[in-house]
Amino acid sequence: MDKEQALTHLTGIGPRIAQKLEKLGIVQIQDLLFHLPLRYQDRTKIKPIGQLQEGEDAVIEAEIEATEIKNGRRRSLVSMLNDGTGSLMLRLFHFSSAQQQQLAPGERIRCFGEVRQGFNCLELIHPEYQHVHRHDSPPLAENLTPIYPATEGLHQNLLRKLIKQALEYPVDDLLPAALLHNADYPKLEVALQLLHTPPANSDIEQLFNPNHPARQRLAFEELLAQHLSLRLLRGHTVQRRAPTFNNAGLMCQKLLNQLPFRLTQAQRRVNEEIQRDLVQVRPMQRLVQGDVGSGKTVIAALAALQALESGYQVAVMAPTELLAEQHLRTFQQWLEPLQIEPAWLAGSLTKKQREAALADIASGETALTIGTHALFQDSVEFSKLGLMIIDEQHRFGVHQRLALRDKGSVGNLHPHQLIMTATPIPRTLAMTAYADLDTSIIDELPPGRSPITTVAMPETRREAVIERVAQACEQGRQAYWVCTLVEESETLDSQAAEATAEQLRMLLPQLRIGLAHGRMKAKDKETVMQAFKAGELDLLVATTVIEVGVDVQNASLMIIENAERLGLAQLHQLRGRVGRGSVESYCLLLYHPPLSRTGQSRLGTLRETQDGFVIAQRDLELRGPGEVLGTRQTGLVALKIADLQRDQHLLEKIQDSADLLLQQHPQRAQALVQRWVNQGMTYGEVY
Ligand code: ADP
Ligand code: MG
Repeated sequence: MDKEQALTHLTGIGPRIAQKLEKLGIVQIQDLLFHLPLRYQDRTKIKPIGQLQEGEDAVIEAEIEATEIKNGRRRSLVSMLNDGTGSLMLRLFHFSSAQQQQLAPGERIRCFGEVRQGFNCLELIHPEYQHVHRHDSPPLAENLTPIYPATEGLHQNLLRKLIKQALEYPVDDLLPAALLHNADYPKLEVALQLLHTPPANSDIEQLFNPNHPARQRLAFEELLAQHLSLRLLRGHTVQRRAPTFNNAGLMCQKLLNQLPFRLTQAQRRVNEEIQRDLVQVRPMQRLVQGDVGSGKTVIAALAALQALESGYQVAVMAPTELLAEQHLRTFQQWLEPLQIEPAWLAGSLTKKQREAALADIASGETALTIGTHALFQDSVEFSKLGLMIIDEQHRFGVHQRLALRDKGSVGNLHPHQLIMTATPIPRTLAMTAYADLDTSIIDELPPGRSPITTVAMPETRREAVIERVAQACEQGRQAYWVCTLVEESETLDSQAAEATAEQLRMLLPQLRIGLAHGRMKAKDKETVMQAFKAGELDLLVATTVIEVGVDVQNASLMIIENAERLGLAQLHQLRGRVGRGSVESYCLLLYHPPLSRTGQSRLGTLRETQDGFVIAQRDLELRGPGEVLGTRQTGLVALKIADLQRDQHLLEKIQDSADLLLQQHPQRAQALVQRWVNQGMTYGEVY
């Protein structure tokens, strides 16, 4: 951080206050400027008592008519006030005898507080008050009084004092004049003064309107800064060196020859994009988006072979053990004919096995390692890591990406990164969240997939649904029954799954029914999944743990309970578990009637389309970007003022504006990032 920005330059800040400010995300002077008021109080004029309304904050000035102690349910000191337009009761529950004497009849006082409806008349309870004289009353506030988001032990008065000081500090307008002019934005200083200290008679409602030019300007600046931070990060990555994989591509050719299918056009295109990256001296940072079942794994394997043939190590990581194990099996099957034996790194290893595996990775003995994200984040040391493949990374924030990015470097060589996700990210969002990555899209499914017929049914038709499951299984098909209750609670979901499995076992004794949920031991879950995959089970009752990954071609029917409570993207992911083979597949969405409008719209979208991008765009409209990107979990884009949903229209201008800044005002670009993203970028090396 810039020294001039240190909070200690302000008066009134000691270590204790600094700590509290940090809780509010305030660590430098300019953070105070962007700590905007929650609301305003109007202390600029005296309100006639006759015009007061319950619930409003108001300044009144009146004469005391009488004061007495009331011994009601709670003892209190009450004074009757009158200003000629009406009367009002001042009530104090805690008071001294000095106060009682000072509130003498005939005295004139000015009060500020919230007006409440009392038993007989309007009341002010414990307002701020001061004695005044009729012809010599103190001046009123010139501006509306801001009320800030605060925290325990950090009071409004102090916050106001600090922010007032901060406003007197010089603040650079980092947006070039051309940008301001084009958008008709006010200068930064003007915008901040207005929002922190609006003049009397300001239209308060307008001040909170997100389209207010001052707010738009700040939101725009913030979004621009977020985008710039990723662009700068990318610029930094580009300057790093990576190993180049110049080889004859023999291994890739061998794999392609031995596959039982030909790559789709889209797979071939994406593969070429990756292969081109891998012969560059700068590290690849590529995100591959491809719908469920679009065939991302083979793309990963081809990239891996490119690194392996050049003598570099490869790490493949997946978010869950189940998924990692599926990759392990696939890679074993594909690569063993090429004399490559993948090593396994997951939580289920014994301590000894794990140590042995780590030793082999560190010595370079192991060329290809497959495991879970969590394990790679720990203590793995590579001897010569050339490529990191990160699967289903849609819930990873930039911080995690960075942590991994720095993890595998050897000397001054940095590994290439290939990131794969089945969650398509709408373009505008990708610009704020993934601007540091190149993107490839597999926009085609392998041939021979039959479309999935999706039907929404009220929960009341449960019996018919069970009958349908029985029929499908008797015809040799397999089915999933997905139980969901509350998205956040794996415990409740697991209980629901247990109960449903029990019920279905009773109703369908002829079927072999398995159960998989998040509270089972990983190993037991695995066993069940494997049995389902091997065709030893007809029906799998599960929670959303089967969301990603598992590839069972014979499964052609999926029931999803409480479908109305799940997000579109999640439903789409789940549904992607069926329709993987050539048999006609069905997805039945069970819901509790009546369906809300959003619920209807969601289930309707699923019935109409199977295109992940269309679904993601709809999801964005219905639920907002936090949900789509999983920011709730990861704090992916922590915005102070802008709102990705509300301010989407601003995103359109971001890219060009960022180009302009980077080309013509690189220092300002840096300063903008320092201003807005200071806490997000604490990776010493990045800047
Ligand atoms: P995802 O993109 O969801 O990770 P997978 O890589 O698991 O998809 O592929 C899904 C299935 O499709 C796998 O069984 C895979 O072997 C198969 N597959 C991949 N590419 C093709 C292709 N070009 N033609 C036919 N089947 C393919
Ligand atoms: Mg996959």
